[in-house]
Amino acid sequence: MKTQCEKCDMELQQDGVAYICSYECTYCEECTKQMDNVCPNCSGELVRRPKRTKKENE
Ligand SMILES: [Zn+2]
Ligand SMILES: [Zn+2]
Repeated sequence: MKTQCEKCDMELQQDGVAYICSYECTYCEECTKQMDNVCPNCSGELVRRPKRTKKENE
């Protein structure tokens, strides 16, 4: 799993908001909005990456 936006190199938190295309190009929310949810590499649609649903038992 990538942890940086491919456009602006911003660090992306694993549990934070990120967008990916079907080729797993990864972008931050800000860049995704600027690109109208279209991946500039493959012209694929960017969708919100699902959050990890890890259950934490403390
Ligand atoms: Zn970005
Ligand atoms: Zn892509």
